[in-house]
Amino acid sequence: MTAFIIDGKKLAAAKRETIAHIVKERNLHPHLAIILANDNPASAIYVEKKIEACKQVGICAKLYKMPSSSDETDLLNMIDTLNKDNGVHGLFLQLPVGDHLDSHKIIQSIAPEKDVDGLTYTNIGRVMASAPSLAPCTPTGVMELLRHENIPLAGKHAVIIGRSLLFGKPMGQMLLQADCTVTHCHSKTIDLPSITRQADILIAAVGKAEMVKGDWIKDGAVVIDVGINRGTDGKLVGDVDFAQASEIASAITPVPGGVGPMTVACLLHNTVKAAAHDFTV
Ligand code: NAP
Repeated sequence: MTAFIIDGKKLAAAKRETIAHIVKERNLHPHLAIILANDNPASAIYVEKKIEACKQVGICAKLYKMPSSSDETDLLNMIDTLNKDNGVHGLFLQLPVGDHLDSHKIIQSIAPEKDVDGLTYTNIGRVMASAPSLAPCTPTGVMELLRHENIPLAGKHAVIIGRSLLFGKPMGQMLLQADCTVTHCHSKTIDLPSITRQADILIAAVGKAEMVKGDWIKDGAVVIDVGINRGTDGKLVGDVDFAQASEIASAITPVPGGVGPMTVACLLHNTVKAAAHDFTV
């Protein structure tokens, strides 16, 4: 079997058009504040890409660059100022932050109604309760990819490798709400391949280059690769061995060009929801 390649770039472009339309139609003037407090070149590139995407849809994005030596109080003060600024609708902290900082504590200080990354406990809680919310962008993007490709979900066994608050846990919840039977795997899982081979939908979010091999995958499964890693040649690769997996899966997301562009598009969508004060937009 040669897998159908799920084109996240194309779907994200279509989603950006829809968002631009909503911004115009509702006469919104969304403002997004991005806090960058590290000197990581990859983070700077991600931020640039997000600012560029914001421009395309009519969102005004402003970068708040802070020294990587900033301490917790500096970041909490910056977030407090932006929380209180009525001209700022959305706010997120580009991750990772330095090891000297408690990223969870800092993220939880973001006002939930401005938390466009969807990582505050309020917004994660709303996802658990199936309430409209600023939901975490990456799992939301994965759901949109699955739905756009009409991949049947009800009754299917979804296996997620990863249980982070950022991705794995909300992803499981969203699939559960879509009537999948969900299994989470993690670093303590015993005999991982024997579990992944049971998946109708296999989602890898580990951060280990090409860890998932072809013989870990059931014939005809749908494979969603969330991982972003540098291969030995410096190129971006996912958590799945794409060449092997695409011979076995029925559909697969590439890296780059799969989940990543949808994550950015969902961040734009959340910013527009925050500006509209309406999570159902
Ligand atoms: P994370 O917080 O580091 O979580 C990684 C998860 O993988 C953990 O649950 C960990 O288990 C599990 N794990 C680690 N080694 C494992 C192993 N050998 N076998 C099975 N499970 C293992 O990472 P994250 O934030 O969820 O992100 C995961 C990956 O997705 C990263 O590559 C990240 O760059 C990428 N990502 C991409 C996007 C995008 O837009 N495409 C967005 C977000 C993240 P434990 O819980 O037991 O430690």
